[in-house]
Order: sequence, then structure tokens, then C-alpha cells
Amino acid sequence: MKIGILEIQGDIEEHYKATKAAINKLNIEGEVKLVKKQKDIEELDGLIIPGGESTVIGTILKQRGLLDLIKAKYEKGLCVWGTCAGLIVMAKKTYDRVVGEKPQPLLEILDVTVERNAYGRQNESFESDLSIPALGNRPFHAVFIRSPVIKKVGENVEVLAYLNDQPVAVQQGNALATTFHPELTYDTRFHEYFIKLCLKSK
Ligand code: GLN
Repeated sequence: MKIGILEIQGDIEEHYKATKAAINKLNIEGEVKLVKKQKDIEELDGLIIPGGESTVIGTILKQRGLLDLIKAKYEKGLCVWGTCAGLIVMAKKTYDRVVGEKPQPLLEILDVTVERNAYGRQNESFESDLSIPALGNRPFHAVFIRSPVIKKVGENVEVLAYLNDQPVAVQQGNALATTFHPELTYDTRFHEYFIKLCLKSK
């Protein structure tokens, strides 16, 4: 099983380490690769799009011809997980809280409408303990950094966790997305959840 971490921008290293730790915990055969070329994407079972800046990630994906490739691979069974900016890149529709609607390159594989920077600026970043039944009873400590808010979800989208009645973790078939950063804590349960999803769809 091969999981790729998109190596464009953002917290790449943290996802790489957390995915390796999750593979060890699950005690399965698996490889984690940093990916940035078309050829790398072809051979993956799962792709993680880290948080960072969604306009940068989307623009570079487009320039490298990866936007259409990832979309096509997703339609053939590739599992994709986006955290924060990664979620934004996966979304069907986005707008910024201050700037409003501005076109940005998106994969459009996740049926959600997202408000970028919805909690405010860096100063308004925060942490919170979430109840995520899919991960068990123990609360999940979640780090929100200039996070988006999911304003609307399509009918095929399952909400895995809420914060203040707003979805913060969602799944639509092989697409998984979180507005927060599980790679920034030592809790690997979300990475394990994604790996299990990849195993199921393989
Ligand atoms: N605010 C960023 C964006 O809109 C996302 C921030 C993050 O990924 N931590 O792309």
C-alpha cells in the first residue's frame, strides 16, 4: 500500500511522520512517499494534501497538470484526504471571509461550500477537543490554524465531527477532509482512519 504526501507547500514533514507512525501502529505493510510529479501520483492508493495556503497549492497543482490527474485517479478509486488548505483544494466551492468569491484552482471532488479564513487571522487560531465517534470514545485534540468553515454539505457527504454545530471533519466515499490539523498532535487515529479507508478501497 502506498500513501503519498503532496510535496508542494505546507506541513508536509508532519504528515509524513504521522502517516509512518500510523502504519507502524496498524502493523501493516505500507510505504509513505513525498509526491510532486504526475508519475508519482499514478502509483498511489492514497494521497494526503497538507495544510498551508490553498491558492498556492491549487495554482501549482494546475501548473504541473496534477489537478486533472488527481481528479481522474480519485474517480478510479484513489483515496484523498485534505487537511485545512487541503480541504479547500478538494472543495466544489470556496470564498474568503474578507475578500469574498475569487476564482482559485480546485479539485472539486468534495461536495462542500467552504468559507476560507472563517475564524479570522493567525491570532484567532485555536485548539479544541472534539468528539469524533468514528475514532472511538476518547476526544480528539484538534488544532485549527487560519481554518476554513464548512458552510454547506451535499447530501452524499457524511459529517464525522462538529464544532459549534459546524462540520469540521467530513467524508464522501473515498474523500476525507478536516478543517483542522491531526498531523500536529501525537494522536495518529485520523491517519489510521485514512489508511484503513485506503485498504478498503484497494
Ligand atoms: N487559510 C489557509 C487557506 O485559505 C488555510 C490555512 C491552513 O491550511 N492552516 O488556504
